[in-house]
Amino acid sequence: MSNLIERDQQHIWHPLTQHKVKKEMLPIKSAKGVMLTDHDGKEYIDGISSWYTAVYGHCNEYITEKVSAQMKNLDQVVFSGFTHQPAVELSEALIEILPDGQQKIFFNDNGSTATEIGIKMALQYHYNQQNDRKVMLAFEEGFHGDTFGAMSVSDLSVYNGAFQDHFIAVKRIPVPNGKNTDEILKQIEEIHQQTPLAGFIYEPLVQGAAAMKIHDAEGLNEILRFCKQRDIVMVADEVMTGFGKTGKNFASYYIETKPDIVCMSKALTAGLLPMGATSCTQKVFDAFYDEDIAKGLFHGHTYTANPLACAAALAGIELLTSEKIQSNIERIHQQHLAFAKKMNLNPLVKNTRCLGTIFAMDLAVENSRYGNLRDRIYNFFMSKGIYLRPLGNTVYIACPYVITEIQLNKIYIAIIGLLDILKNI
Ligand SMILES: *Cc1c(COP(=O)(O)O)cnc(C)c1O
Repeated sequence: MSNLIERDQQHIWHPLTQHKVKKEMLPIKSAKGVMLTDHDGKEYIDGISSWYTAVYGHCNEYITEKVSAQMKNLDQVVFSGFTHQPAVELSEALIEILPDGQQKIFFNDNGSTATEIGIKMALQYHYNQQNDRKVMLAFEEGFHGDTFGAMSVSDLSVYNGAFQDHFIAVKRIPVPNGKNTDEILKQIEEIHQQTPLAGFIYEPLVQGAAAMKIHDAEGLNEILRFCKQRDIVMVADEVMTGFGKTGKNFASYYIETKPDIVCMSKALTAGLLPMGATSCTQKVFDAFYDEDIAKGLFHGHTYTANPLACAAALAGIELLTSEKIQSNIERIHQQHLAFAKKMNLNPLVKNTRCLGTIFAMDLAVENSRYGNLRDRIYNFFMSKGIYLRPLGNTVYIACPYVITEIQLNKIYIAIIGLLDILKNI
């Protein structure tokens, strides 16, 4: 194992990492179902589905078989000028489960490009109609990815100082909390009068990177209604919330007003291959549909609609819509609710939140987002064979839907163990 750690240090630059502070990466040898296994043979329950991707379990045989069959038939082909069955079938399957009104699917590579394209669609939608609207609206503490457009609309760009002067124009509003809706609407009205808004990008109901913060559905609906009336393009970033995590196929199902554009990635391909997709309504598409070539969306990635990724996504959607997975999602939610009830009685727990398979709680202790205590909590869980990534003083679970009752209980027991230790510091 040490050999791999040293060789990693020779040539690899890891994401979101200050290498002088974080020196060693843990080599993972294999993954199966909800378990990750390192090179020493130690096992960890993957409590966050490897960043919300592997929701049907790692190396899921149903999915790997579909992908290997596809691999023998058509591996990759240019998607400009060509099409193929896996992409066509996936577009149909996505439209089937997406919120009402979505009509066209634009394929891409990852979550950041999915939102980047959502932003570009919103801006060019107005540009094509000669509307002078160049500003995006976004939530405080939102996260939409790490490419330039996505970074611009994100508010969690603490370490993005080097790029800030190059960001696109963004105005920011607080998330609705059930009491501030009127204030927010007034704020948007003022912004829109001064700098006409092209689009509004939002993570529906759950802000994942902000530590699984959940906001008010009714308030969000009011904001969306406001946008809809003024033709401010509504871009739902469902990269994290999509494909069942919130208990519905998409979080937008909880909100009456449906988005114009939906960004997807992460669980889209069941954790097997990188892919993103951005869907839109006929109305958005029509603003690009013209004899004038320049009115088209001139955006494309080499691996767009990669057939293998499409095959993985299709198999994933089949599983998602199966009775078994749907009942698992409901069972996980019930377990979370019962655990939250218990946690709410603990003086070291400030609050809890549950939505579908997502559970989060804030600890009543001081801790910064990447502070020292956070590392100690992380290491504590790893020592117990549980992989969780606490953020600041938030501990959250976003487990694979195939997790058993017993495995989920093991995560809860580790959290209770953590609280016992925290009592004494
Ligand atoms: C992860 C995430 C992204 C970025 O996706 P990447 O694939 O990491 O580029 C964008 N939006 C949300 C809400 C996310 O959770």
